[in-house]
This record gives sequence, C-alpha cells and structure tokens, in this order.
Amino acid sequence: MAAAAWRYWTHTRKVVCVARNYAAHAAEMGAEAKKSPVFFVKPATSLLPVGMGAIEVPEGTTVHHEVELGVVIGLPGRRIAAADAMSHVAGYCISLDMTARNLQSAAKAKGHPWSLSKGFDTFAPVGPFLPASKVADPHNLGIWLQINGKDVQRGTTAQMIHKIPKLIEHASAWTTLEPGDVIMTGTPEGVGPVLPGQSLRAGLDLPNGSCLTQAIWSVEAAPGLPS
Ligand code: MG
Repeated sequence: MAAAAWRYWTHTRKVVCVARNYAAHAAEMGAEAKKSPVFFVKPATSLLPVGMGAIEVPEGTTVHHEVELGVVIGLPGRRIAAADAMSHVAGYCISLDMTARNLQSAAKAKGHPWSLSKGFDTFAPVGPFLPASKVADPHNLGIWLQINGKDVQRGTTAQMIHKIPKLIEHASAWTTLEPGDVIMTGTPEGVGPVLPGQSLRAGLDLPNGSCLTQAIWSVEAAPGLPS
C-alpha cells in the first residue's frame, strides 16, 4: 500500500469524477446538489502527475480550475458496499478537475455530452500520492488553491455532500474500480479561469492548519480543436 506514486499513476485506467458534491459550488453553477452522486469519467491520458509538465489551455477554450480531494484505489472491486469501501482505498492526493467551461456550457445547452470539456490531456493534475495510513480522516481536511500566490478556492472536505464510502459504493455499482484509478470527489466554491503563464499551487491541510501535501503546476497555451 505504501508504494511509490508512480506505481499508482502508471496503473491508472480512469479518473472517476463527482459533480456538484459541495453545496456552495452547486449554487455558484446555478444547479442543485443531487441526492445521489453524479459521475463522469476523464480518460487516463488526461492525468498529469506533478512534475510531469504544465497544465494546457487549448486555444479557444476558457479553462477553469476545480480543486478536489483525489481518492486513489488500491484494491479492485465491483459493487463494493459502503461499509467495505475504505479497505479499497490505497491513499489520497490533491487533484484538479480542469474544465473547459465554455465547451461544457455549450454542450449542456445543446443537451450534448460534455466529456470533451473535461478530458483534454493534462486536465487531471494530481499531486504526490499520500498513503491512506497518513490520512486519519479524509473528511476533515482543508483544501485550497492559489493562483500566483493568491487564494482562489478554500474549503474543507467536511463540506462534501456524498462521503467517500458512498461515492465508492455508487461508482463501483456502475464501473469496476481498479488499482490506480482516481476518484475526484468534487470541488468547493470559487472556481474560475486559469491563464497561460500562471502558477497554480494546491494543497490539503490537517485540521490543525499544517500542510499535509501540496503541488505546483505551471499553465501554458496549447493548440485548440480542429475547426
Ligand atoms: Mg469537479
């Protein structure tokens, strides 16, 4: 379980994301939080382990940051009961659910799928792998994101509507969870745009305020979609 991070990231086959899992973020998106978790998937190719390059902003897109607690699966499972869910967790990471918001909004307005807006390469940055043994309570961590040293998102995982056991139960009832898969558990309020040239720093804090983990990414411009 305490293996090096690369063992997890090289095994990641999907990133399962949860939409609207913080009430204040659902409100800022003009949406209501749902009774059951709403999932979507990012391809494994969107994963960007810290130190492996910059977050890309494809031309023609407005890319938003969503800082999220990442849950890394260690034991595979299908139809995992909530009561057994935590035994499937290898560890955690700070992560970002990067979102091409203009493409997402356009797709939503047309009733189209919005996979594209979430799945560009580099749109799933993940920080250092934290073994579960280092995280006494994943539901009581400060979670934050700074752009160029200034706070833009700051919340606590205690605000998550659907907790990790329920997320694992619901996700694994739909799709088999495999070692290395990452569940991004939703973002607190304060999402907004990132621009090429900016520096993003995100982290998790312990309840006493000390930093548990952090990671820094640069942002750069990239080619957009073909016309
Ligand atoms: Mg998100």
